[in-house]
Amino acid sequence: MAGYREHISVSGLLGVAYGCAAMFLFGFSLVQSSIAAVLTWMAGMLPDLDAEGGRPVRELSSLTAALMPLLVLQNVHAIGVTGDRAMLFALASYAVVKYGGAFLLAKLTIHRGMFHSIPALLISAEVTFLAYHSHEQRVRILMAIGVGLGFLSHLVLDEMYSVQWDGTRIRLKNSSGTALKFFGTEAVPNGITMALLMFCTYMSLVQGGILREPGTEPAPEQFTITSDLDDAPPFMIAEQPGDTELK
Ligand SMILES: [Zn+2]
Repeated sequence: MAGYREHISVSGLLGVAYGCAAMFLFGFSLVQSSIAAVLTWMAGMLPDLDAEGGRPVRELSSLTAALMPLLVLQNVHAIGVTGDRAMLFALASYAVVKYGGAFLLAKLTIHRGMFHSIPALLISAEVTFLAYHSHEQRVRILMAIGVGLGFLSHLVLDEMYSVQWDGTRIRLKNSSGTALKFFGTEAVPNGITMALLMFCTYMSLVQGGILREPGTEPAPEQFTITSDLDDAPPFMIAEQPGDTELK
């Protein structure tokens, strides 16, 4: 398998290329393109989160723990939670990620398990889409694709390292086929991954406006709400109707 250094070099280069493409070909801003590049780069380490105690795990978990409060703050401000309570949410999310995440990872993962798989790639991209706060759909898609690309570079690199050329013929190591796969060998991780994938896909489709949440009224009512909220920031318009009516 490819090492930490190879992974971050390849995904880093990919990130730069992706960021440039986003800016010069698709007209995203410099800030947006830079974030996309960094996300792509970081996603190149993501699958090795299952390598217990390794360097990617330590770096990624402290990074995620540090980023989580920011993400939470972005999102709770949007639903109107501010001040002390927002601060509490942020602190709690740090603790949950830092300690809860480490505990869960140690319990749930075996190396080269479902973290190295296509479903895990899709889940990561979808979680990015759901968590990234922007009123512009295409910005969230940009970030999600960036994470997907970085993740893919990791899986492809792992697979490439399992092919050996010994001078006369090509040999495949035992690890061949364990990175770019749809299903693992164990039922429980497979089940959890599939359930997670379906949940994230459903949520993404709802948030992307492709599916409507059951029980919410169709478009006409949303239009009246939109016109009432003309002065509100755009995310209120996009998210408020479905959220408030269901609960
Ligand atoms: Zn790997």
